[in-house]
Amino acid sequence: MNDILFIEPIFKERLWGGQNLRTEFGYDLPPKNIGECWAISAHLNGDCRVKNGKFMGMTISTLFRTERKLFNYYQSKKFPLMVKIIDANDDLSIQVHPDDKYAKRHTEDEGKAECWYILDAKDDAYIIYGHQAKSKDELANMVSENQWKDLLIKKNVKKGDFIFVPAGTIHSIGKGIMLLEIQQTSDINYRLYDYDRLDEHGEKRDLQIEEAIQVTRIPHVNPVLRTKFFDLGDTSITRYVKNDYFTVEKWDVNSSFNHENDRFKLMSVIDGYGQVNGNSVKKGDHFIVTANVNYIQLIGKMSIITSYV
Ligand code: ZN
Repeated sequence: MNDILFIEPIFKERLWGGQNLRTEFGYDLPPKNIGECWAISAHLNGDCRVKNGKFMGMTISTLFRTERKLFNYYQSKKFPLMVKIIDANDDLSIQVHPDDKYAKRHTEDEGKAECWYILDAKDDAYIIYGHQAKSKDELANMVSENQWKDLLIKKNVKKGDFIFVPAGTIHSIGKGIMLLEIQQTSDINYRLYDYDRLDEHGEKRDLQIEEAIQVTRIPHVNPVLRTKFFDLGDTSITRYVKNDYFTVEKWDVNSSFNHENDRFKLMSVIDGYGQVNGNSVKKGDHFIVTANVNYIQLIGKMSIITSYV
Protein backbone atom coordinates (compact mmCIF):
# COMPACT_ATOMS: atom_id res chain seq x y z
CA MET A 1 0.00 0.00 0.00
CA ASN A 2 1.12 3.53 -0.71
CA ASP A 3 -1.23 5.28 1.66
CA ILE A 4 1.08 5.30 4.66
CA LEU A 5 4.41 6.97 4.01
CA PHE A 6 7.26 5.77 6.22
CA ILE A 7 9.89 8.48 6.57
CA GLU A 8 13.70 8.21 6.63
CA PRO A 9 14.99 10.56 9.36
CA ILE A 10 17.85 13.02 8.81
CA PHE A 11 20.40 13.43 11.60
CA LYS A 12 22.04 16.73 12.50
CA GLU A 13 25.37 17.21 14.22
CA ARG A 14 25.28 19.67 17.11
CA LEU A 15 27.72 21.08 19.65
CA TRP A 16 25.50 19.69 22.41
CA GLY A 17 24.72 16.34 20.71
CA GLY A 18 25.78 12.77 21.42
CA GLN A 19 24.84 9.19 20.59
CA ASN A 20 21.77 8.66 22.80
CA LEU A 21 19.41 8.51 19.82
CA ARG A 22 21.14 5.28 18.80
CA THR A 23 20.74 3.67 22.25
CA GLU A 24 17.22 4.93 22.76
CA PHE A 25 15.71 4.37 19.29
CA GLY A 26 18.17 2.07 17.51
CA TYR A 27 18.88 4.64 14.79
CA ASP A 28 21.98 4.03 12.69
CA LEU A 29 23.74 7.27 13.59
CA PRO A 30 26.93 8.56 12.01
CA PRO A 31 29.73 8.56 14.62
CA LYS A 32 29.38 12.24 15.46
CA ASN A 33 27.72 14.39 18.12
CA ILE A 34 24.17 14.00 16.87
CA GLY A 35 21.76 16.40 18.54
CA GLU A 36 18.72 16.34 16.32
CA CYS A 37 16.74 13.74 14.42
CA TRP A 38 14.63 15.46 11.78
CA ALA A 39 12.02 12.73 11.78
CA ILE A 40 9.45 14.26 9.43
CA SER A 41 10.60 17.36 7.61
CA ALA A 42 10.17 18.99 4.21
CA HIS A 43 12.39 21.95 5.05
CA LEU A 44 15.10 22.98 2.58
CA ASN A 45 17.74 22.31 5.25
CA GLY A 46 16.59 18.71 5.66
CA ASP A 47 13.99 17.28 3.30
CA CYS A 48 13.21 13.71 4.41
CA ARG A 49 12.51 10.91 1.94
CA VAL A 50 9.82 8.25 1.84
CA LYS A 51 11.21 4.76 2.38
CA ASN A 52 8.37 2.52 1.19
CA GLY A 53 5.87 1.95 -1.61
CA LYS A 54 5.66 3.58 -5.00
CA PHE A 55 6.84 6.93 -3.65
CA MET A 56 10.02 5.42 -2.22
CA GLY A 57 12.96 7.83 -2.48
CA MET A 58 10.85 10.91 -3.05
CA THR A 59 11.19 13.87 -0.73
CA ILE A 60 8.22 15.04 1.29
CA SER A 61 8.39 18.49 -0.32
CA THR A 62 8.14 17.01 -3.84
CA LEU A 63 5.27 14.75 -2.85
CA PHE A 64 3.46 17.61 -1.15
CA ARG A 65 3.79 19.66 -4.34
CA THR A 66 2.82 16.95 -6.81
CA GLU A 67 0.44 14.57 -5.01
CA ARG A 68 -1.97 17.07 -3.52
CA LYS A 69 -4.69 14.51 -2.87
CA LEU A 70 -2.50 12.67 -0.34
CA PHE A 71 -2.53 15.84 1.71
CA ASN A 72 -6.25 16.61 1.34
CA TYR A 73 -5.30 19.51 -0.97
CA TYR A 74 -4.08 21.45 2.06
CA GLN A 75 -3.72 25.11 1.06
CA SER A 76 -0.09 25.99 1.64
CA LYS A 77 2.98 26.37 -0.55
CA LYS A 78 5.04 24.40 1.92
CA PHE A 79 4.43 21.25 3.91
CA PRO A 80 3.32 22.84 7.18
CA LEU A 81 4.84 20.76 9.98
CA MET A 82 8.14 19.38 11.18
CA VAL A 83 8.75 16.65 13.74
CA LYS A 84 12.15 16.35 15.44
CA ILE A 85 13.69 14.46 18.30
CA ILE A 86 16.20 16.50 20.29
CA ASP A 87 18.85 14.95 22.52
CA ALA A 88 20.36 17.62 24.76
CA ASN A 89 23.65 16.36 26.19
CA ASP A 90 24.39 19.94 27.14
CA ASP A 91 22.37 23.14 27.44
CA LEU A 92 21.12 24.51 24.11
CA SER A 93 21.59 28.21 23.40
CA ILE A 94 19.02 30.68 24.71
CA GLN A 95 16.94 31.56 21.66
CA VAL A 96 13.69 32.92 20.33
CA HIS A 97 11.79 32.53 17.05
CA PRO A 98 9.87 35.16 15.08
CA ASP A 99 6.18 34.95 14.24
CA ASP A 100 4.91 34.63 10.65
CA LYS A 101 4.51 38.37 10.20
CA TYR A 102 8.11 39.18 11.15
CA ALA A 103 9.52 36.16 9.29
CA LYS A 104 7.74 37.10 6.05
CA ARG A 105 9.01 40.65 6.25
CA HIS A 106 12.63 39.88 7.11
CA THR A 107 13.44 36.34 5.95
CA GLU A 108 12.74 33.71 3.29
CA ASP A 109 11.33 31.40 5.94
CA GLU A 110 8.19 31.06 8.06
CA GLY A 111 7.59 31.97 11.67
CA LYS A 112 8.01 29.29 14.25
CA ALA A 113 5.69 28.15 16.96
CA GLU A 114 6.84 24.89 18.48
CA CYS A 115 5.87 22.43 21.17
CA TRP A 116 7.66 19.72 23.10
CA TYR A 117 6.71 16.37 24.52
CA ILE A 118 9.35 15.39 27.08
CA LEU A 119 10.47 11.84 26.30
CA ASP A 120 13.04 11.66 29.08
CA ALA A 121 14.64 14.00 31.59
CA LYS A 122 17.28 13.68 34.30
CA ASP A 123 16.05 14.40 37.85
CA ASP A 124 17.16 18.01 38.00
CA ALA A 125 16.61 18.82 34.32
CA TYR A 126 15.12 22.19 33.46
CA ILE A 127 14.24 24.38 30.52
CA ILE A 128 14.44 28.15 30.13
CA TYR A 129 10.98 29.43 29.40
CA GLY A 130 10.24 33.15 29.39
CA HIS A 131 11.88 36.22 30.89
CA GLN A 132 11.35 38.82 33.62
CA ALA A 133 11.76 42.06 31.59
CA LYS A 134 8.83 44.49 31.66
CA SER A 135 9.85 46.54 28.62
CA LYS A 136 12.02 46.33 25.52
CA ASP A 137 14.53 48.74 27.09
CA GLU A 138 14.76 46.64 30.21
CA LEU A 139 15.26 43.50 28.13
CA ALA A 140 18.01 45.17 26.07
CA ASN A 141 19.73 46.45 29.23
CA MET A 142 19.65 43.14 31.03
CA VAL A 143 21.02 41.39 27.94
CA SER A 144 23.83 43.89 27.47
CA GLU A 145 24.77 43.61 31.14
CA ASN A 146 24.67 39.81 31.09
CA GLN A 147 22.05 39.62 33.85
CA TRP A 148 21.00 36.16 32.74
CA LYS A 149 20.16 34.88 36.22
CA ASP A 150 17.68 37.68 36.86
CA LEU A 151 16.35 37.76 33.32
CA LEU A 152 15.65 34.14 32.44
CA ILE A 153 12.94 31.95 33.97
CA LYS A 154 13.84 28.34 34.71
CA LYS A 155 11.26 25.60 34.80
CA ASN A 156 11.81 22.00 35.90
CA VAL A 157 10.49 19.33 33.55
CA LYS A 158 9.92 15.61 33.76
CA LYS A 159 9.09 12.76 31.41
CA GLY A 160 5.56 13.13 30.01
CA ASP A 161 5.38 16.94 30.32
CA PHE A 162 4.10 18.93 27.36
CA ILE A 163 5.24 22.47 26.65
CA PHE A 164 3.90 24.87 24.05
CA VAL A 165 6.38 27.50 22.89
CA PRO A 166 4.61 30.26 20.92
CA ALA A 167 6.70 32.45 18.60
CA GLY A 168 8.33 35.25 20.61
CA THR A 169 9.01 33.10 23.69
CA ILE A 170 12.61 33.09 24.93
CA HIS A 171 13.51 29.45 25.51
CA SER A 172 16.20 26.85 25.80
CA ILE A 173 16.31 23.09 26.29
CA GLY A 174 18.50 22.11 29.22
CA LYS A 175 21.09 19.37 29.57
CA GLY A 176 19.71 15.87 30.17
CA ILE A 177 16.46 16.28 28.26
CA MET A 178 15.27 14.22 25.29
CA LEU A 179 12.13 15.46 23.63
CA LEU A 180 9.91 15.20 20.59
CA GLU A 181 9.30 18.55 18.95
CA ILE A 182 6.45 19.50 16.64
CA GLN A 183 6.82 22.86 14.95
CA GLN A 184 5.95 24.99 11.98
CA THR A 185 8.21 24.34 8.99
CA SER A 186 10.89 26.93 9.73
CA ASP A 187 14.56 27.00 10.62
CA ILE A 188 15.01 30.50 12.01
CA ASN A 189 16.60 30.79 15.43
CA TYR A 190 17.65 34.10 16.93
CA ARG A 191 20.30 33.27 19.49
CA LEU A 192 20.38 35.55 22.52
CA TYR A 193 23.07 33.87 24.57
CA ASP A 194 25.25 30.79 24.21
CA TYR A 195 27.04 30.61 27.60
CA ASP A 196 30.16 32.01 25.89
CA ARG A 197 30.91 28.51 24.60
CA LEU A 198 33.45 27.75 21.89
CA ASP A 199 32.85 25.38 18.98
CA GLU A 200 35.36 22.86 17.57
CA HIS A 201 37.18 25.69 15.77
CA GLY A 202 37.57 27.60 19.04
CA GLU A 203 34.97 30.16 18.02
CA LYS A 204 31.78 31.36 19.59
CA ARG A 205 28.60 30.65 17.65
CA ASP A 206 26.88 33.69 16.15
CA LEU A 207 24.34 35.58 18.20
CA GLN A 208 21.45 37.59 16.74
CA ILE A 209 20.75 39.77 19.76
CA GLU A 210 19.05 42.63 17.94
CA GLU A 211 16.61 40.38 16.12
CA ALA A 212 16.01 38.35 19.28
CA ILE A 213 15.03 41.47 21.21
CA GLN A 214 12.84 42.63 18.32
CA VAL A 215 10.75 39.46 18.19
CA THR A 216 10.50 38.67 21.92
CA ARG A 217 7.05 39.04 23.42
CA ILE A 218 7.13 41.51 26.33
CA PRO A 219 6.06 40.91 29.00
CA HIS A 220 6.33 37.15 28.91
CA VAL A 221 2.96 35.41 29.23
CA ASN A 222 2.52 31.73 30.00
CA PRO A 223 0.04 30.34 27.46
CA VAL A 224 -2.88 28.46 29.00
CA LEU A 225 -2.91 24.85 27.84
CA ARG A 226 -6.39 23.43 27.65
CA THR A 227 -5.45 19.79 27.62
CA LYS A 228 -8.33 17.46 26.80
CA PHE A 229 -8.48 13.81 27.68
CA PHE A 230 -10.63 11.37 25.71
CA ASP A 231 -11.18 7.97 27.29
CA LEU A 232 -12.12 5.67 24.41
CA GLY A 233 -12.07 2.43 26.37
CA ASP A 234 -9.08 0.47 25.12
CA THR A 235 -7.41 3.64 23.91
CA SER A 236 -7.04 7.11 25.35
CA ILE A 237 -6.22 10.31 23.52
CA THR A 238 -4.66 13.30 25.22
CA ARG A 239 -5.03 16.47 23.17
CA TYR A 240 -2.40 18.92 24.36
CA VAL A 241 -2.80 21.74 21.94
CA LYS A 242 -5.03 22.78 19.07
CA ASN A 243 -4.31 26.13 17.44
CA ASP A 244 -3.78 27.80 14.07
CA TYR A 245 -0.47 25.96 13.57
CA PHE A 246 -1.01 22.43 14.80
CA THR A 247 -3.04 20.00 16.82
CA VAL A 248 -0.90 17.62 18.86
CA GLU A 249 -2.19 14.51 20.61
CA LYS A 250 -0.84 11.43 22.35
CA TRP A 251 -2.62 8.23 21.44
CA ASP A 252 -2.16 5.47 24.02
CA VAL A 253 -3.30 2.22 22.43
CA ASN A 254 -3.59 -0.83 24.68
CA SER A 255 -4.60 -3.53 22.19
CA SER A 256 -6.45 -2.09 19.20
CA PHE A 257 -7.97 1.14 17.94
CA ASN A 258 -9.91 2.12 14.82
CA HIS A 259 -9.93 5.78 13.93
CA GLU A 260 -12.00 7.33 11.15
CA ASN A 261 -9.57 9.55 9.30
CA ASP A 262 -10.33 12.71 7.35
CA ARG A 263 -6.92 14.29 6.68
CA PHE A 264 -3.17 13.65 6.58
CA LYS A 265 -1.57 13.05 9.95
CA LEU A 266 2.04 12.86 11.16
CA MET A 267 2.64 10.02 13.60
CA SER A 268 5.64 9.09 15.75
CA VAL A 269 5.75 5.93 17.83
CA ILE A 270 7.40 6.92 21.11
CA ASP A 271 6.84 3.69 23.01
CA GLY A 272 5.90 0.07 22.33
CA TYR A 273 5.20 -1.64 19.02
CA GLY A 274 2.40 -3.01 16.92
CA GLN A 275 0.79 -2.49 13.53
CA VAL A 276 -0.67 0.38 11.57
CA ASN A 277 -3.04 -0.81 8.84
CA GLY A 278 -1.07 -4.06 8.66
CA ASN A 279 2.40 -2.44 8.65
CA SER A 280 4.68 -3.34 11.57
CA VAL A 281 5.78 -0.31 13.57
CA LYS A 282 7.90 0.19 16.66
CA LYS A 283 9.27 2.89 18.92
CA GLY A 284 11.27 5.38 16.84
CA ASP A 285 9.22 4.95 13.63
CA HIS A 286 7.74 8.03 12.01
CA PHE A 287 5.16 8.03 9.26
CA ILE A 288 2.56 10.12 7.49
CA VAL A 289 -0.92 8.70 7.24
CA THR A 290 -2.19 10.26 4.02
CA ALA A 291 -5.70 11.54 3.33
CA ASN A 292 -6.29 8.38 1.24
CA VAL A 293 -6.60 6.41 4.48
CA ASN A 294 -10.23 6.31 5.61
CA TYR A 295 -9.56 4.26 8.73
CA ILE A 296 -6.41 4.16 10.81
CA GLN A 297 -6.27 0.68 12.29
CA LEU A 298 -3.83 0.31 15.17
CA ILE A 299 -3.01 -3.00 16.82
CA GLY A 300 -0.57 -3.44 19.68
CA LYS A 301 0.45 -1.67 22.85
CA MET A 302 2.04 1.63 21.97
CA SER A 303 2.07 5.38 22.47
CA ILE A 304 2.00 7.59 19.39
CA ILE A 305 2.37 11.34 19.13
CA THR A 306 -0.01 12.43 16.37
CA SER A 307 0.03 15.89 14.87
CA TYR A 308 -1.99 17.50 12.11
CA VAL A 309 -3.22 20.80 10.75
ZN1 ZN B 1 13.16 26.68 19.52
